[in-house]
Amino acid sequence: MAGLVLSVDVRLPSRPERSIDALAELRNRDDLNVIFILVDTLRADHLGVYGYERDTSPFLDQMTASGVGFADVQCQSTWTKSSMASLWLGAYPARTGVLRHSHAIPEAATLPAEILSDAGFRTVGIWRNGWVANNFGFAQGFDVYYRPQPARAALEVRRGNPSAHPLLGTDYDATEAALEFLRSYRNDRVFLYVHYMDVHQYLYDEQSGHFGTDYKDAYDNAIHWTDRNLGRLITAADELGLLERSIVVLASDHGEAFYEHGGEGHARNLYGEVTQTPLLLWLPFRLKQELVVESRVENVDIWPTLLDLLGLPALPGAQGRSLVPLMQAAARGEEPAPERPSDAQLDRTWGQVDARPLPLVSVIRGDLRLLWSQ
Ligand SMILES: [Zn+2]
Repeated sequence: MAGLVLSVDVRLPSRPERSIDALAELRNRDDLNVIFILVDTLRADHLGVYGYERDTSPFLDQMTASGVGFADVQCQSTWTKSSMASLWLGAYPARTGVLRHSHAIPEAATLPAEILSDAGFRTVGIWRNGWVANNFGFAQGFDVYYRPQPARAALEVRRGNPSAHPLLGTDYDATEAALEFLRSYRNDRVFLYVHYMDVHQYLYDEQSGHFGTDYKDAYDNAIHWTDRNLGRLITAADELGLLERSIVVLASDHGEAFYEHGGEGHARNLYGEVTQTPLLLWLPFRLKQELVVESRVENVDIWPTLLDLLGLPALPGAQGRSLVPLMQAAARGEEPAPERPSDAQLDRTWGQVDARPLPLVSVIRGDLRLLWSQ
């Protein structure tokens, strides 16, 4: 049987143009949705919008030309489960306590989906990475939290990383599931979390396979393929009339190494190639030009920012801060705010059940990064 082909008729969303002053008015609206896109294993410097020389992300680049881009973003760990716990809780790994194979987010914790659900949002999480599965506490607050079924006719894809662990299906399935949810609940307030996985898997189809075949080429092909999936998701959301009443965010849990410090992959160390991630924000309106926030920010800041924008209760115990003042300062052309130190942490024996913990900590201040290991 012939495989599916992802054809994308991408056009730019038709939101009205406003100035950044409209940011402060968002909290007064009662019709806003949140579409939160997590692209697993996406290092910032392989996206066009972050200056990459290859045209890996034409859709993201065009979208961000009228949105907000954060130039320097640090994740809090380079292993998915630990990093995602920090992202959702707005807290560093030492506080979340999610550092090893057996650790889970405790039930007593409050997650953003719980706050949004209490505020009347329909909440759905669509994920393909087992480290964010229900049994690790990540489903709290979601009405529906599930791994999409692979399409009946398999997509014709190539796997550029033969050592990646096997994973059924592709992000096409995640996009389909996300669209089904948006179509069904288009008249409600929705919080949609889509966790894309094909960049992690170096997976792409023929149309995106034009950068070559070595490891780094295959990774870039997979970014291009993901960008097309995103184009399809956002374009369809716009056709449903959702983007004029949605805040859309794109983030990642960690980057990927290509032997910059002697190894490839992630979840092994805390160098810049694995801690520097993208953060892009698209508002319910277009800005005349991209607003770039130069100050260093962190993934723990993402949810304090979104809840602040929506005028919803803050995350209890969060250590991150709202980035709204930084956005407003950047719009006024003010100098970047003095930087706080940026922290990340990784237990390098996270996957060895009986091994003793081997913590590695990274602290960035200014241009310097201190790495400390036991
Ligand atoms: Zn990951």
